[in-house]
Amino acid sequence: MTARVVLELPVRREFDYLVPAELVPKTKLGSRVTVPFQGREVRASVVGLLDSAPDRPLKSVIGVVDEVSLLVDSVMNLAKWIAEYYNCPLELALRSALPTAVRRTEARHQQRLVVQLRPPPPSEKPLTPLQQRIVGLLEERGEMALADLIRVAETTATSVRRMQTNGLLSIVERRVERDPHASDLLVSTAPLELNAEQSVATGIIIAALLKVAEEQDSSVSPEKPLPAFLLHGVTGSGKTEIYLQAIAKALEMGGGAIVLVPEISLTPQTVERFRSRFSTSHDPGVVAVLHSHLSDGERHDEWHKIRDGRARIVIGARSAIFAPVKRLALVIVDEEHEHSYKQEETPRYHARDVAVMRGRMERAVVLLGSATPSLESFQNALAGKYQLLQLHRRASDIRMPVVRVVDMRHEQRGGKQGGSIISLPLKEAISLRLERHEQTILFLNRRGYSTSLLCERCGYVAGCPNCSVSLTYHRAAARLLCHVCGYEEQVPARCPEAKCGNPGIRYSGLGTERVEEVLSKLFPRAQVRRMDSDTLKRKYDYREILADFRTGKIDILLGTQMIAKGLDFPNVTLVGIIHADLGLHLADFRAGERTFQLLTQVSGRAGRGDVEGEVFVQTFTPFHPAIQFARRHDFEGFFEQEIEFRRQLHYPPFARVALLTLKGRNDEKVKFCAEHLGRELKRRTEGWPDLVLTGPAPAPLLRAETFYRHQIMLRTRSMSRLSKELADISATVTLPEDVTIVIDIDPVSLL
Ligand code: ADP
Ligand code: ZN
Repeated sequence: MTARVVLELPVRREFDYLVPAELVPKTKLGSRVTVPFQGREVRASVVGLLDSAPDRPLKSVIGVVDEVSLLVDSVMNLAKWIAEYYNCPLELALRSALPTAVRRTEARHQQRLVVQLRPPPPSEKPLTPLQQRIVGLLEERGEMALADLIRVAETTATSVRRMQTNGLLSIVERRVERDPHASDLLVSTAPLELNAEQSVATGIIIAALLKVAEEQDSSVSPEKPLPAFLLHGVTGSGKTEIYLQAIAKALEMGGGAIVLVPEISLTPQTVERFRSRFSTSHDPGVVAVLHSHLSDGERHDEWHKIRDGRARIVIGARSAIFAPVKRLALVIVDEEHEHSYKQEETPRYHARDVAVMRGRMERAVVLLGSATPSLESFQNALAGKYQLLQLHRRASDIRMPVVRVVDMRHEQRGGKQGGSIISLPLKEAISLRLERHEQTILFLNRRGYSTSLLCERCGYVAGCPNCSVSLTYHRAAARLLCHVCGYEEQVPARCPEAKCGNPGIRYSGLGTERVEEVLSKLFPRAQVRRMDSDTLKRKYDYREILADFRTGKIDILLGTQMIAKGLDFPNVTLVGIIHADLGLHLADFRAGERTFQLLTQVSGRAGRGDVEGEVFVQTFTPFHPAIQFARRHDFEGFFEQEIEFRRQLHYPPFARVALLTLKGRNDEKVKFCAEHLGRELKRRTEGWPDLVLTGPAPAPLLRAETFYRHQIMLRTRSMSRLSKELADISATVTLPEDVTIVIDIDPVSLL
């Protein structure tokens, strides 16, 4: 037998090896093997098995790594499709499909080191701040796995071991069941009685599930592709309840399900809703959760629970689409419009599109859900590729919140104390909520204190030495920070220009830290909490803040996009959007769509309980369509106007985009290469009917992390043809060593 393998090295090629007789029984499609390669032993995945004798002498496979093959056929096929469509080496696609924690052979169900506190020894020595932090953590949680402790306390094994030597704590070996949610208290929930709109939608989905199951039982080969569904339901319309009931049906018929949610809304609250419905006492492990905060060990155990078939429902972010679920019947992509489904490194796949492909390959029902579907998906639904299911009303008949647009151009002039940041109407609305003991969410999609530091005398602006952006002032940390590369420096006391030295440098632009300060001045007695990546340092911070908000310990929750999605707090009756125009003027054809989506999602957090909600949108462009349609909760109105613009300019969904970015440290050289490549592309695509080539041009973010960047954009309907051409070009056109090219198919960010 001959095995065709992909090496775990970026060589963009497959190789054949002979399988020795004794290894034949263990070598399966998807098995990992070790093979000789250029005098070394290298790991590889088997992607094909051939029975015929080879026509030339081959080297032999040395050994088989895992007892069972880790890659199931369906996932392997998916990886092959990704490699081809997204133009990346198969070994990288395979790597995405198999988590590192699973691929590493050392990661077994294993013993773990657990740290426990010991009664304090009568030592006089005061604890260092680090030691205090560690002791505090252990007091709070009883005991912790060493690895978790190191991560959470941001320390090293050496420091912890030293504390052991000092008799402050002990480290013991123990087999731990790595269930990330073992400590959650679950109250099991029963299915809700569906309202009319929900019943119709659920009925249609269940009928499709039944049809697929029937096909499988009668083993007739199906002729028609399934419809994949688009569920468009306003915020709070009860989409999740539909997911739950559809999953219940899939399980009943012996199938499994994958639920994708954006990382950001993979909140404990979301997970709990699924677990409390399905994780009953006789089957507690039926729901597996995959997200980025799992430790390697937890990820390993969750993954094997799925592979063994013990877990039948998988909830996770982007990469959960590769979960090896048995008899996959249903794939749900919640918030399908979310850009975080796109992976921003190779392979640059879009998990929603991969989900649709997986559904097609395995004949599983795919359900995309959103209150603000992407233009691509809604157009697909109108074109009949997806069946459209709509929910126009909130589930328990609560009304949609009233949205008021505040024109900040007028507010500015009256701006007294913080008036240019919190308008008078919003201020009064907040006061009213404080009086009534209701809660407020304030949203501003920019962290830090101010966006730039500038000298009014000489025009100096503090910029990043590595990127073409200005530095953001973070007041609590007293640092200037680059949000692109993470560069930081001290805040200068005076203008650093040698000739100037003006002590009157000032800050401009607005971040959450500044809003927090203004709020504490305007409402000194209110409990205000800020939630952005600066305030979330530890794994549990997120949970803690949300728990405090739920129990009413916080009156006003202020945050970035982290608080925009998925939160369901009935006592929130007011939502304020501090600066709605922030994303509107980006050099991106989706800027309007993105703003509309964000405004709709944030507004959707208001009035989910008994009291009707109210939303204030502060803006400098009150008549922009994205703002006006969001105000009226009119998705279809927005769609109709936006789709026209896309049609005329031949943008998605009327074409697919391939974005080529060339990067290097020498601007002239990168530019030269981009021009050369541009000419070559033009020559090769001469006469293609619907191809539009723009550029080369400097990227909107010309310099990032010390690299200069120039772009070429290609738009066409037949991406598979273009993909092949691009694969060919990248194999034949040679670039200088210090210039690299990134090919992004269906990009979601054009920066
Ligand atoms: P969506 O996912 O569309 O934003 P959710 O599923 O979160 O909406 O539902 C919003 C609220 O309505 C939740 O509190 C949910 O429990 C409730 N709900 C959903 N369906 C029903 C129903 N049929 N009857 C009563 N309440 C419901
Ligand atoms: Zn930078």
